[in-house]
Amino acid sequence: MALHPWQWKLWRERKVVIAYVLTVDIVALALAAGIIMTTPIRSGDLLRFGLLAAGAVVHREAVRRIESLRERTTGQGLLTDLTSLWIFAAALSVPLPLVFGLTGVVHLHSWYRGSSLYRKLFSAATMVLAPTAAVAVLQLVQPAGYPIVPQGPPGLVVLIGAGTVFWLVNYALVVGAMIMSDPLQPARQVLGNPSEQIVVAAALGLGVGFAVTLTFAPWLIAVLMITVFALHRALLLPHFQQAARTDSKTGLLTVGFWREAAGRELERARRLADPLGVLMLDLDHFKLFNDRMGHLVGDQVLRAVADELRSQTRPYDLVGRFGGEEFVILLPGVGTAQVEHIADRIRERISQLRVLVDSPHDRPATVDGISVSIGAAVRPNDGDEIDDLLLAADGALLAAKTAGRDRVRLATR
Ligand code: GH3
Ligand code: MG
Ligand code: MG
Repeated sequence: MALHPWQWKLWRERKVVIAYVLTVDIVALALAAGIIMTTPIRSGDLLRFGLLAAGAVVHREAVRRIESLRERTTGQGLLTDLTSLWIFAAALSVPLPLVFGLTGVVHLHSWYRGSSLYRKLFSAATMVLAPTAAVAVLQLVQPAGYPIVPQGPPGLVVLIGAGTVFWLVNYALVVGAMIMSDPLQPARQVLGNPSEQIVVAAALGLGVGFAVTLTFAPWLIAVLMITVFALHRALLLPHFQQAARTDSKTGLLTVGFWREAAGRELERARRLADPLGVLMLDLDHFKLFNDRMGHLVGDQVLRAVADELRSQTRPYDLVGRFGGEEFVILLPGVGTAQVEHIADRIRERISQLRVLVDSPHDRPATVDGISVSIGAAVRPNDGDEIDDLLLAADGALLAAKTAGRDRVRLATR
């Protein structure tokens, strides 16, 4: 927990990002201070605030493990969660100073659980500005007093308008920060997966449900909590999909997913009459290596080889872990002319690898002299089905092994 502002990662960002983040923080703070000093609060508001705060903390505690799994899967992309649910419910139920109070409670809680302070401050600032904008819309139907329960078709329109404004302010502020921190990243990465925005819509809808229940039957929000937990679990779907696709030891594709994706690529190659290459790789004398250095060191070498394979291939090549220390690579568009050259470059790079390994007993050490044998096959010469191509590449791999290892062989018909 970086309480010391001079250690924040923020200062290592570009200057515009620092200026932007600080401006958003200061505007939010000034706005909040102004509103807090001029808005009266009544005792009924406090009861609703207490229930919402309790619900929010229980919710966040219950989903901690889910959230950390999701963060690992998503990497640096935009990650939405259900926080908006509580803030939007509060915007409908209690005066703005208490909404800000809830923003504070939620963010203090997650900061206490370990995220970085300046990120939390920025996120809290968006959760001050978004509900303030939403309340400005809601006050079209009810200029004073809480809770706000919009009635009839006009009420519905205003409610949807308020939800949209809430979403838009929050989204624009976050996307703005991402664009400024790296103007060159692809738009798709900045804007995030559209399905993530469905999560926000669900959060806002549930927020309305909470606000209405809180007004007419406060204790029944316990029932709505069940929906929140179930929905939050469903957010793990992308994580499970990723887990099914990738091998946990190396991060490469699993055999099953590789086959599926390779089938699609082969289909496309046939349609466009494009060539397509398949490489089978097997590390040389890896059993000896394990016997000498231990299995755990062997695993780290496998990981390093896998990373090298990925960095030596194009983003759309399919790199899979076929079994133990065997790998398979599909190279769309690569024909007889290039396949040997590519395979040999990969072999060469692996032979130059120097892997820094940790072992439980010894001091960290550098491992080198790793070598690999590679068999290559090409569509359409060596076959037009995945299994035929794999068989041909495997035959070539065997030939490379018998010829003395640390070399590339092409399939022969
Ligand atoms: P060569 O391929 O050159 O003929 O000799 P090799 O010793 O590599 O023989 P082979 O490919 O048949 O042996 C595979 C060895 O790889 C056996 C096992 O010790 C090792 N291995 C397989 N999977 C793993 C793994 O996940 N981690 C580690 N550390 N070793 C593995
Ligand atoms: Mg093997
Ligand atoms: Mg081997």
